[in-house]
Amino acid sequence: MRASVHVYNDESDVDALTGALTVRRGAPALISSGARADTIVVGAGIHGASTAWHLAQRGVNVVQLDRFPDGHGQGSSHGHLRMIRRAYPNPIWDDLVDRAYLAWAELSAAAGAPLLTTVGGLYARPAADGTPGLRGPGCETVTAERAARIFPGLSLGAEFAAVYDPAAGVLDAAAAMRSLRELGLAHGVDRRTGVLVEGWEPDGEGVVVRTADGVLRADRLVIAAGPWTGSLVPALAGLLTPTRIVNVHVGASDPARVSAPALGPFSVEVPGVGLLYGLPAFGGAAVKIGLDHGPVDDLGPQTPVTADEAARLLALARRFLPAADGDVVDSVACRYTMAPRNRFAVGALPGTPQVLVAAACSGHGFKFGPAIGAALADLVLGKERADLDFLAPAALGAPE
Ligand SMILES: Cc1cc2nc3c(=O)[nH]c(=O)nc-3n(C[C@H](O)[C@H](O)[C@H](O)COP(=O)(O)OP(=O)(O)OC[C@H]3O[C@@H](n4cnc5c(N)ncnc54)[C@H](O)[C@@H]3O)c2cc1C
Repeated sequence: MRASVHVYNDESDVDALTGALTVRRGAPALISSGARADTIVVGAGIHGASTAWHLAQRGVNVVQLDRFPDGHGQGSSHGHLRMIRRAYPNPIWDDLVDRAYLAWAELSAAAGAPLLTTVGGLYARPAADGTPGLRGPGCETVTAERAARIFPGLSLGAEFAAVYDPAAGVLDAAAAMRSLRELGLAHGVDRRTGVLVEGWEPDGEGVVVRTADGVLRADRLVIAAGPWTGSLVPALAGLLTPTRIVNVHVGASDPARVSAPALGPFSVEVPGVGLLYGLPAFGGAAVKIGLDHGPVDDLGPQTPVTADEAARLLALARRFLPAADGDVVDSVACRYTMAPRNRFAVGALPGTPQVLVAAACSGHGFKFGPAIGAALADLVLGKERADLDFLAPAALGAPE
């Protein structure tokens, strides 16, 4: 054992020493570097990965941490497809929806592959329901009869009406997540998986991030922890509800009848059941469906879709998708993070401007990922984004 004398100049020296002494075998030498990041991003789902890429493109030194390995199925961003739509219940979302479409075009260009395929969408509910439904630029209300001509693959009873959104489309979610990972790495993101962030504290104008493997310091921290946001942002914990959501993929003897143009993204408000949503077969032979609600999730290890859960969805497919006449060929369990009024929390935390959050789910956050990543990069770099005030963390839970 060799002994030597060291002179400690500052905290990072102490970090380097303790790091050298505590690095777990095989664990990334987080702290031994003593490096101070410009920005630490917690989470590599669609919001964390988008933020890391946008920051790195602007020359920011980013360390990105995720507790699970790449491609894991424990959070909210896994799975093959997602839907994007212009039809939204409240015009307050319109500007962000516009930015979402632009951001997908930017990401597709950077990825060199079309990640968004526009095929139109139908959003149905009982015609007698007089409450305001979805609306948006270019959207129109159609009868069930007209809806059947638009999507012969969707069978709505005469008691339904629908909103047709010509700009709705299918997002290749799996390819988007791969591209964001690769683009982030190509721009120098220091991406570390298998690292559990246990907490953080303000450190002057910066922040200290505690992980199971040690401590890191940075000027800014972005928390994009999905269903686990409440554990890292106690102020939001009471407003965010992790929710189990399951999807099944149902086969079809004639895949063309459940693929675009015969079918596009859709949803149906089914009385007594809830909101059924679905995506057409896309590069395959099965249509994907799910219900927009589920039980509160305890965030334990994800469990497979049960036979009862699958049977319930299959029965709905039989009712609304006559051409989906096959079996359940695949299923996926996933998690929403529900917030009041299906809103998001995006921006700096009150009292700690160096710490920003993107709790942007409520079952509809994926489409906004690249745009929210760009917005968080703006905010980290001190650019005002008044357009996001309606999603300010302090506004979450506030009455309308
Ligand atoms: C079945 C399903 C269908 C959906 N369909 C649509 C759709 O069609 N259109 C749409 O727009 N949206 C849709 N959504 C919603 C959308 O997928 C989510 O809003 C979005 O993926 C949320 O991404 P995120 O980055 O916030 O969270 P996540 O993807 O969950 O990422 C959070 C990451 O943080 C990591 N993490 C958490 N805590 C820690 C910690 N302490 N230390 C280190 N790492 C940590 C996790 O490992 C995880 O990787 C759907 C969601 C589900 C579940």
